Amino acid sequence: MLITMKELLTVAKENQFAVGAFNVADSTFLRAVVEEAEQLNSPAIIAIHPSEHEFLTDEFFSYVKHRVYESKVPFVLHLDHGGSMEEVLRAIRCGFTSVMIDGSLLPYEENVAVTKKIVEIAHAVGVSVEGELGTIGSTGNSVEGGVTEVTYTDPAEARDFVNRTGVDTLAVAIGTAHGIYPKHIKPELQLDILEEINTLVDIPLVLHGGSSNPDSEIAQSVKLGVSKINISSDMKYAYYKKAREVLNTTEYWDPNVIYPECILEARKVINHKMHLFNSVGKASLYDKVVTPKTVEKAVASSRY
Ligand SMILES: [Zn+2]
Repeated sequence: MLITMKELLTVAKENQFAVGAFNVADSTFLRAVVEEAEQLNSPAIIAIHPSEHEFLTDEFFSYVKHRVYESKVPFVLHLDHGGSMEEVLRAIRCGFTSVMIDGSLLPYEENVAVTKKIVEIAHAVGVSVEGELGTIGSTGNSVEGGVTEVTYTDPAEARDFVNRTGVDTLAVAIGTAHGIYPKHIKPELQLDILEEINTLVDIPLVLHGGSSNPDSEIAQSVKLGVSKINISSDMKYAYYKKAREVLNTTEYWDPNVIYPECILEARKVINHKMHLFNSVGKASLYDKVVTPKTVEKAVASSRY
């Protein structure tokens, strides 16, 4: 089934688990995420960055919707780091059930204004919105980018931002970075900031750049209100490590011969994350979720 982020994360927050948002950049990664989710009876978020959307083209989403619509496992189709009204509307037109508008690099008041505007438009058609406050770091090797100096989310500002914009979820900056960390740098989360935000803000929180943080910190963050954790680099790294190995040791050229093993490697990472986030077996909690008619109609009319 295809549901909205609000529906997905309301249940997750109530039941103290997080859902992985996996950046899917082609059909083999889509298969890895969807098949592992079904195998573990775990909900999952299919995340698409605007640069991935551009690469995939709009038609790809007919396949995505067709694949997940009849599944017994709940999925959300989500735009990751939408940077403009055009990118957000393009995603909504393609049937996404959730969009992120990332105004985190704008001055605070401008971030509030642009996010509020997107919320008005997206909510009118039943689509959820994620905003971002504070900045996520960059390790320099991810398409998602980021900044070199992380600005931590200010808890009081987070409360003001949520109240004024009406966002459904909020990405917070507590010391994570996009990409895989160089070996000499140890990532560390500022869990005290997270704890304070969680006492002031009611909506589910989102952790970006969760690839290399220690498992114990990730598990702790779920207890402190994080309901969505973005995973991209870990999964893609495992996939292409295997791809390099296969290509370096054989003369294969058929994708259907090369990629199955790579998909399995990506699935191992997804499997680990789903266990870590405590989302395994949680799909059955969604049996009673009723998707708003606007979304259902939009999905049904654009599903093939
Ligand atoms: Zn991100």
